[in-house]
Amino acid sequence: MAKQEDFFKKVISHAKEYGYIFQSSEIYDGLSAVYDYAQNGVELKKNIRNYWWKAMVQLNDNIVGIDAAILMHPKTWKASGHVDAFNDPLIDNKDSKKRYRADVLIEDYCLKIEKKITKEVAKAQKRFGESFDKAEFISTNQRVLGYQEKIDAILSRMGKSLENEDLADVKLLIEELGIADPLSGSKNWTDIKQFNLMFGTKLGADEATATDLYLRPETAQGIFVNFANVQKTGRMKIPFGIAQTGKAFRNEIVARQFIFRMREFEQMEMQFFVKPGDDQIWYEKWKENRINWHKSLGLGEEKYRFHDHEKLAHYANAATDIEFDFPFGFKELEGIHSRTDFDLKAHQEHSGKKLQFFDHTTNSSYVPYVVETSVGLDRLFLAIFSTALENEELEDGSSRIVLKLPSILAPTKIAILPLLKKDGLPELATKIVDDLKFDFQVTYDEKDAIGRRYRRQDANGTPFCVTVDHQTLEDKTVTIRYRDSMKQERISISEISSIVAKEISFKKWINN
Ligand code: ATP
Repeated sequence: MAKQEDFFKKVISHAKEYGYIFQSSEIYDGLSAVYDYAQNGVELKKNIRNYWWKAMVQLNDNIVGIDAAILMHPKTWKASGHVDAFNDPLIDNKDSKKRYRADVLIEDYCLKIEKKITKEVAKAQKRFGESFDKAEFISTNQRVLGYQEKIDAILSRMGKSLENEDLADVKLLIEELGIADPLSGSKNWTDIKQFNLMFGTKLGADEATATDLYLRPETAQGIFVNFANVQKTGRMKIPFGIAQTGKAFRNEIVARQFIFRMREFEQMEMQFFVKPGDDQIWYEKWKENRINWHKSLGLGEEKYRFHDHEKLAHYANAATDIEFDFPFGFKELEGIHSRTDFDLKAHQEHSGKKLQFFDHTTNSSYVPYVVETSVGLDRLFLAIFSTALENEELEDGSSRIVLKLPSILAPTKIAILPLLKKDGLPELATKIVDDLKFDFQVTYDEKDAIGRRYRRQDANGTPFCVTVDHQTLEDKTVTIRYRDSMKQERISISEISSIVAKEISFKKWINN
């Protein structure tokens, strides 16, 4: 555990030191759970967003994108159910005065049991070596089965109690499990209360007549209210999707895990409109599509798993999370929900406007069903950044800090490095930069010895370094160095562009 915590601290400090993420308003001691993306962070975030957008909008001829406003008519949130039901169950510890989400306390308890399973598996793997069959072990070992049964029973009871609004039973569960405040160890809990997560604001200058608004807690509703506009103007036929990326705001009760849980964050959502009855087929298709998209980034297949929901939200008939193995364990990265016709029907009722699709083949109209994929851009950033960060032991006994970001996402693609600061090398290197910068994000660095410059670029995640030396003046060749293998090759200047373009090709990565 301590090791994990230490590593997570390193992730946070590396993100700051290398210009990826800063605490918001740091000079005023920061604002809790709000962060700023710095010069490298903004590039990485933009590249992740583009990778999602291209996979959704560019590759699917039946998906289009929009960019709806953050502020929406207040009736939106009544219709969507957020005013009445966008709550988290909060619980206070009477001794430490710390506040927690009751469901997260219970989930973290289950995570601890899960770690015991992981330990048993690791032990058995060591014992049986090559012949170890993990799947069989998990499904037959009595101790593991016992742990898993316990987890399932706890989560199932919590799910049911939350669904029935039986908060007293959720508290009883916390007490029965002996869950203590992780900071103080105290088990002296208050009753559980529901807390609405929406941030309120006002529209209009005059206090008395101003309208109460909310900052959107999800981007999805901007898509639903535009369903008919997009369908008609884009002449879209069912099935089709609308994609959107943008800021969302939630007044989270507990936000202690860096950019995992923020109060202002960005979502990338796609709502896919289907014929009623086809929803489960599309739900399965999108589950597969999304997990493959994640895996294409090459962070490791074992880093992902599905977690089907016990407790379904008021709008859903099926829901799953894609969970990622973060530095603090498996947690939700993306939600995939089969939302039925709940949203369109609700907006139809509250607005009095038809939100239906006219099917020419049957000459009848219907309210489409919706399958949603919703991923947090910041969580994805954390997943990618923390997995990429390595302290790598090298063959010569030394070590290096390297950020093995997928090259297609790296903020800077190429660093151009003149070997010396004289003999015309800086001038030639600058010429190369000036040529490449039309196609790639390039940086120039002439400070310090070449080895130190390589290390700096490794830690920054730059996949290619190009060194200009005296031979370059003679035969127009340079040395290209690959970040991950540290392999070096002599190539001609004219080849740089095609080598890099090939390595960061969207087609290559997405078909990974
Ligand atoms: P959680 O259970 O972690 O609070 P959620 O189930 O409420 O998440 P959704 O409403 O399904 O999340 O939102 C979709 C995605 O948006 C999540 O999978 C997550 O990646 C992201 N997300 C949600 N809340 C936050 C937050 N406070 N900070 C950063 N990302 C978030």
